[in-house]
Amino acid sequence: SDRVAPSCDVLVIGGGQAGLSAAYFLQRFSLQDRYQLLDHAPGPGGAWQFRWPTLTLAAANRVHDLPGYGLVEALGRDCETFPAASAVPEYFAKYEEKFGLRVFRPVDVRSVEHAGDGFVATLGDGTTIATRTIINSTGTWERPFIPHVPGIGDFRGRQLHTHDYIGPEAFAGKRVLVVGAGISAVQLLIEIARSAPGAQTFWCSRTEPVFDDTPFDPEKGRRAVARVEERVRAGLPPTSVVSVTGLALTPAIKAARDDGILAWRPMFTRITETGVCWDCGGSGRDGTDSLDVDVIFWNTGFRSALDHLAPLRLRGPGGGITMTGRLATTVAADPRVQLLGYGPSASTIGANRAGRAAARNVADLLGA
Ligand code: FAD
Repeated sequence: SDRVAPSCDVLVIGGGQAGLSAAYFLQRFSLQDRYQLLDHAPGPGGAWQFRWPTLTLAAANRVHDLPGYGLVEALGRDCETFPAASAVPEYFAKYEEKFGLRVFRPVDVRSVEHAGDGFVATLGDGTTIATRTIINSTGTWERPFIPHVPGIGDFRGRQLHTHDYIGPEAFAGKRVLVVGAGISAVQLLIEIARSAPGAQTFWCSRTEPVFDDTPFDPEKGRRAVARVEERVRAGLPPTSVVSVTGLALTPAIKAARDDGILAWRPMFTRITETGVCWDCGGSGRDGTDSLDVDVIFWNTGFRSALDHLAPLRLRGPGGGITMTGRLATTVAADPRVQLLGYGPSASTIGANRAGRAAARNVADLLGA
């Protein structure tokens, strides 16, 4: 049928890398007629369809193939120089077609509540779906995070987040302060400094960025992911996987450093009407150390997009959701709920593996 059914055994919410991997394995584990996959985006691709146009696959950290059918095979060409925002959606569309993965879209899941011995999900149009289990894979893209800094409401210039970036052109001739120590912060700082004519860039973050000169070592990657996994097993809010792996010192970053683009300053303590200042008093004007800028560009990361699960009250006293089981995809307080892309699985490879673990867990639970 081409309509969402009013009940199912497994409701998969979100059809990005994690949701597609889960659906692929649900089919492998003979649950093809027992799940429904809903996504509120207009088309395939998960959050990749919304990434800024200058982010090519080569510039991305590394987009791992989905299980069973790779990007190069699906698209018939190597797409390294293509914008991720077009190549990945094209690939995901082919992937869905190849395995007959049915994604209902655009269908928004507004909230999920307990009902009987399962759950009821309320959709954007007010209709409901009853389900026995949930695989949630809603990513982080829709929850951009900006830290609170005193005076943030006073700034008269422009503030934006990575989420809202569409390219360097808008920054021509502007004084731009980039905030953040992750990959996006560094990449976009360099892009604006190099490609926005007449722009002057500045860079601040709370922790000093650590560049890693050593070649990528899978063992180091595993240790970093293990640290994030430990946090979610202990009920602490996850940190990003990158925040524990450090930043790779790529040729582009080395060149930017040589050209003086990566001049870093510690985090400012206050935002003023015209910029920021360090160790400044109440108004910010009596401080000695201040910087006037036109734009504050927050590259301060994302949080998990889990608002629709709020009625389930999954968060514990540690501020996070305590996770358990295979690859920590299972909510400890309610094993009928699987969270993908939360903590250690918030990467394309993590999402692949978590999709398999979640499908396995749900198959066990349903006795499939
Ligand atoms: P998403 O791709 O975000 O998919 C979530 C889906 O859920 C979306 O399609 C959305 O429409 C849907 N959805 C959300 N809420 C609802 C709702 N309430 N109802 C219905 N549908 C909903 N990782 C890497 O491994 N390599 C990289 O190079 C890399 N680059 C990145 C670059 C940026 C700028 C960012 C922000 C992240 C990057 N990541 C990268 C991390 C990356 O986002 C994840 O690895 C992965 O793509 C996330 O997949 P996902 O399926 O968990 O989430």
